Amino acid sequence: MNSASASMIVPPDKLHDIVRTIFSAAGSTDREARLVADHLVEANLRGHDSHGVGMIPTYIANARDGSLILNQTLSVGFDSASLVVLDGGLGIGQVMAHDAIEAGIERAANAAACIVGLRNSHHIGRIGHWAEQCAAAGLISIHFVNVVSTPAVAPFGGTKARVGTNPFAVGIPRAGEPPIIVDFATSRLAAGKVHVAFNKGVSLPDGALLDAGGHPTTDPSALFSDPPGALLPFGEHKGWGLSVACELLGAALIGGKTQSGPKQSNAIVNSMLSILVSPDRLGTRANLDDETDAFVSWARSEATRTAQILMPGDPERETKRWREANGIPIDARTWEEIEAAAESVGARGAPA
Ligand code: NAD
Repeated sequence: MNSASASMIVPPDKLHDIVRTIFSAAGSTDREARLVADHLVEANLRGHDSHGVGMIPTYIANARDGSLILNQTLSVGFDSASLVVLDGGLGIGQVMAHDAIEAGIERAANAAACIVGLRNSHHIGRIGHWAEQCAAAGLISIHFVNVVSTPAVAPFGGTKARVGTNPFAVGIPRAGEPPIIVDFATSRLAAGKVHVAFNKGVSLPDGALLDAGGHPTTDPSALFSDPPGALLPFGEHKGWGLSVACELLGAALIGGKTQSGPKQSNAIVNSMLSILVSPDRLGTRANLDDETDAFVSWARSEATRTAQILMPGDPERETKRWREANGIPIDARTWEEIEAAAESVGARGAPA
């Protein structure tokens, strides 16, 4: 890849080729490299650059220091038809979560519902991706996820980081319409978005971050300083409560590790509890479709000439339409970091 001195716009297909080339050079199978590329480029397409190709340098560094295992396969921790727990063994999350959700989809299609626990996976990226995988199979899904890494978020009422950004997601398929996808970190900002702002040299919104002294700041570098600052939970005590549920249901219940101390390794470890339900098998498909249509129309009827009412998932689809047509913007610093990661694995064939 050539060096870049300014932000650039990269066509999605080309970015996909670059990701595949880098992971193939790092030692991934073709399937693994493709699944990682599918996920990272889709995150960029949907506007979540925090979980897109900017993650490549971290993944490659973790693969090189042994805290991410390439070409890992899931092992079964527990299996009783509609409840399966799978261990990701620090495998690359884009494959571990894909395969775990695929197993859940097959079981939910047969048994009406399935609970899938995925523990000890390396970073599983944008959780909405897994809700979309379920929705594409006609299933609703609910996902509680914890993060074990450098703590980034203070408990409600506190000023020092104790937990990760513990994301939560829900997917609801619709007949003839795109699915509703609720997908967010339980912190006011995802940590990756603070990193993106840092790389772009822009300030954060007010009220998201405290510096190491516990004072509000808009400077993204405060999260990465030594000692570090802390993000705040979204929604005051309510977001904190959801974060606690993600920590304990997403990990402790299924035999995974919680963030119960400072950083243990360089890996970003995710555990995820997913609940999948088939409205077809439940016999409520028509009701779900009709009531969702009625509800969405009613909610959208509140739109004014200046303010639209959006459903969760709408903003990402809009960004995807734009980026598919116009390309994906990558800031210069992120591009340089990707180039360095490519060089570190000898990915000389990576397209310029
Ligand atoms: P965000 O704050 O951008 O919120 C996104 C959600 O809000 C989406 O469901 C979106 O459709 C909806 N939304 C946005 N604007 C809306 C509007 N005006 N009306 C209605 N709905 C609207 O998300 P985030 O907290 O920055 O998280 C970004 C990504 O980071 C997510 O994909 C999340 O899964 C991921 N994440 C992953 C990890 C991990 O460890 N794997 C950790 C944290 C976050």
